[in-house]
Amino acid sequence: MVYDILIKNGKIVEGNGNPWYWGDVAVKEDKIVSVGLLKGVEAEEIIDAKGLVVVPGFIDAHSHSDSRTLVYREMESTIMQGITTVVAGQCGSTIAPIDPTTREQYEKKLNTGLPEGITLKVTWTTFDEYLKEEEKAGLGANVAHLVGHGAIRTAGMGQDARAPTAKELEKMKELTKEAMKAGAYGISSGLIYPPGIFAKTKELIELAKVAAEYGGIYDTHLRGEGCTLVKSVKEAITIGEKANVPVQISHHKAACKAVWGKSKTTLRLIEKAREKGIDITVDQYPYEAGATGLINLIPPWAHDGGRDKLLERLADTKQREKMRKDIKEGISGWENFAGELGWENVMVSSIKSDKNKKYEGKTMDVIAEEMKEKDAFDALWKLLLEEEGTPGMIIFCMEEGDIKRIMASPYQMVGTDSSSVCIRGPFSHGKPHPRHFGTYPRVLGKYVREENVLRFEEAIRKMTSFPAQRFGILDRGIIRPGMFADIVIIDQDKIMDKATFENPHQYPEGIPYVIVNGKITVDKGKYIKVLAGKTLRKR
Ligand SMILES: [Zn+2]
Repeated sequence: MVYDILIKNGKIVEGNGNPWYWGDVAVKEDKIVSVGLLKGVEAEEIIDAKGLVVVPGFIDAHSHSDSRTLVYREMESTIMQGITTVVAGQCGSTIAPIDPTTREQYEKKLNTGLPEGITLKVTWTTFDEYLKEEEKAGLGANVAHLVGHGAIRTAGMGQDARAPTAKELEKMKELTKEAMKAGAYGISSGLIYPPGIFAKTKELIELAKVAAEYGGIYDTHLRGEGCTLVKSVKEAITIGEKANVPVQISHHKAACKAVWGKSKTTLRLIEKAREKGIDITVDQYPYEAGATGLINLIPPWAHDGGRDKLLERLADTKQREKMRKDIKEGISGWENFAGELGWENVMVSSIKSDKNKKYEGKTMDVIAEEMKEKDAFDALWKLLLEEEGTPGMIIFCMEEGDIKRIMASPYQMVGTDSSSVCIRGPFSHGKPHPRHFGTYPRVLGKYVREENVLRFEEAIRKMTSFPAQRFGILDRGIIRPGMFADIVIIDQDKIMDKATFENPHQYPEGIPYVIVNGKITVDKGKYIKVLAGKTLRKR
């Protein structure tokens, strides 16, 4: 047989944690067909992997690319760091399902978040219709989806700060069922964001039960990663136990000084839960800062009814005073970033208008000074109002000891917590978190090669077969015959991230080849637009 691709002379790391071995890999169409010391075989294309390591394509356990794929199918920053499959739809936030009566309004809101000149037509309301839209054309990488609890809640009962009625809860269960039947891999929640922030544990258990019925998981951005971290991990464990569902804790971290070191406690809790038969794991990105929308500095009550209502409240001096007081003093159970971390640790990462663009990459205390506002609170109200709530922020909140401890845990896998962007064009705006470009190379360069936190093969396991097992993507994530040909070829001595917080738009080094479904999409370090990725539906 003449193969399509033959990768010769490389060290193979299978992806299951086993040590490397010498071997060749033969690919025909979209599958790996033969692995080993292959003699006298022919192929259309031969890649000499001498001095390089052949590993399975990375599976990003935590991606936000789902809102991107319809407008940016290339997914360049994803591919360029060796990711061939993303698990999207995280943190409760997905763009389906949608209540049909709010579709137009929803489309407007979605478009305010997109770069200048890019528009998205919302043609779907159900999860299946949304996946069909994504399937209409190719993708840079494969995309598996979770359905967001936030979307389900909004479609089921709006953005109100209250518990659902029995009828509304039934509707939310139906919507979850529809998404799972369409091929979602589980349900995600974002319990610091509206409307997830308004949901009680009981509601989450009910919906996670539906996901479990269809073999899905419950993947959660905890109710708090700062002062309320331990309590929040316990809530996730309770949901796993009561709903009898596998649980994934998203981007696990200890996110303020008061809880630095508490990863010891949380990892022990996870260990204990597992001993009781609750299947709980975590994902993580390797940086000391997190990133989300600037609007999440505002207390939960002010989000009641949605973004337009929030902007109205922000324009009202009386309401602002109440917000100021709550941020200064905190509210029990609320993840109060600015209050817990200080304004000097809150950096604005992206701004839409030309007028305020100069504040990108600056912290809120500095912005307040430059704006000549009285303090950072006043600067925050102004910026949110002028930009209609759209700015992004990066928050410096973690400590290296926790990062390494979580990374070394056998229950940790790697995820970027990013969406696909680019180093040029409309998707290169702002100063996005460097994890968009460097997550996987950073683990392999800084934490494996330089700091010996993990064995190389163990790190590859956490990037490939482990997330594949976690989400049930069982035909990917290992280099074996019969598996899909998602393959990355790495220079183990050179691999390193280059993106920084100051200058994020840089692709990593040391990844000369990426193959997606048998198609070469990075060739000698250069991105090729072949769009060989597919929407994956859970069967
Ligand atoms: Zn999150």
